[in-house]
Amino acid sequence: MEDTSQSRKISKTATRIRPEDRSKQFEDGTFRVDTGRLLCSVCNVTVDFTRKHTCLKHLNSNTHKRRKEQQVFASAKRASLENLDVSTGGTSERQVFLTGLVDAFAGANIPLHALDNRNLRSFLQANFNSETIPTASHLRRFFLPKAFEAHFIALKRCLANRGALAIVCDETTDAEDRYILNVLAVPSCEKQGDKLDALLLECVVLEKTNYKTVSEAILRVLFKYEIPTLKISAFVTDNAAYMHKAWNCSLRPVLLNGVHVTCTAHILNLICEVWVSSFQETNRLVSAIKKAFTASPARKARFKQFLREKGAPQKLPPAPVLTRWNTWFGAVLYHADHLEDYSEFFSRELGSSASSNTSEIIILCGSVDVRQQLDQLRIYAPHLMAILKKYEGTDIKAHLVIDDLTQLIEWFDASYTDTENLA
Ligand SMILES: [Zn+2]
Repeated sequence: MEDTSQSRKISKTATRIRPEDRSKQFEDGTFRVDTGRLLCSVCNVTVDFTRKHTCLKHLNSNTHKRRKEQQVFASAKRASLENLDVSTGGTSERQVFLTGLVDAFAGANIPLHALDNRNLRSFLQANFNSETIPTASHLRRFFLPKAFEAHFIALKRCLANRGALAIVCDETTDAEDRYILNVLAVPSCEKQGDKLDALLLECVVLEKTNYKTVSEAILRVLFKYEIPTLKISAFVTDNAAYMHKAWNCSLRPVLLNGVHVTCTAHILNLICEVWVSSFQETNRLVSAIKKAFTASPARKARFKQFLREKGAPQKLPPAPVLTRWNTWFGAVLYHADHLEDYSEFFSRELGSSASSNTSEIIILCGSVDVRQQLDQLRIYAPHLMAILKKYEGTDIKAHLVIDDLTQLIEWFDASYTDTENLA
């Protein structure tokens, strides 16, 4: 018996194959051979060449695909950098280096004034054979526009090579309180298991937000990137009335192959908003506790000490953000488990520093309403949390949405009947 299994093992692994032979079985440049090892040209990692299956598995892995995409984009960028005009003076090699440097700083989100730092400057000058590196203001004035242009051209090329695109947009306000419409393109996935990859096309500053300004901005972006309108398969937005109107009144007749998709995560957020509004007291508790712990490292330390004395895990209450419901639910579930602890801890705190917030927490922790609400949330929140988490990811779920939402409606109906029966 043992012999047979041994021989099967050997026959499965073709040990006699050389890395050179394996490399030839794939497209030129996919793998390279280095001192008896087979290396992936994109990832620069060793791949087991004895089995073809292992090589194929590597080529189909998400890491490899992501790296390959990055490489394609980087080489497109390099090509556009090399084609830039050299009118700012200096050799073209130096131009490419400086534009690339600005591009790298912008990509890593490092402000250009960091280049005025003496240490960084002397390091770069010593190691990159560059004469002198211009000041940040010079780079900003002459090279940032070039880096932007190179990025734009690379993005345009990248989009031209992809199939159908979904246009995703949402509006926000910036630090100066202006309306900003972020327009993203998400190329469709070509193979099963691929992850969605979003590319930011433009942040359009809008005078005001209405269906006309939004439609105009979208069409202008498509025109700028020379994206054929027939290539757009979806227009993904939130549920705002002006987005519906933008689609129905102006974009639908132009984007003939597209459909309007309202973001499921956004719809779920709205559902949570309605749902959570019935838990007023719990909401008060959540904000009071958040207030008690933010900006008070000493109290955080005392609470940790308190938990340690009790022998409980020293985890601090999560600080929830209202627009991210999962953080709110997470905080609620934590509070549900720590009501007794809070009562005791904040009663002690009251002795050292009396504040209206501390007294409110003590009252809320003793409230029957809060207890009942927390019990209900403990039962129902995990379901909503799971579904929210699912739709905030980047995996493709379009085919599952209808089932999940139907289930959610059924679950709401059933929970409602349950509550009615209990009452
Ligand atoms: Zn690879």
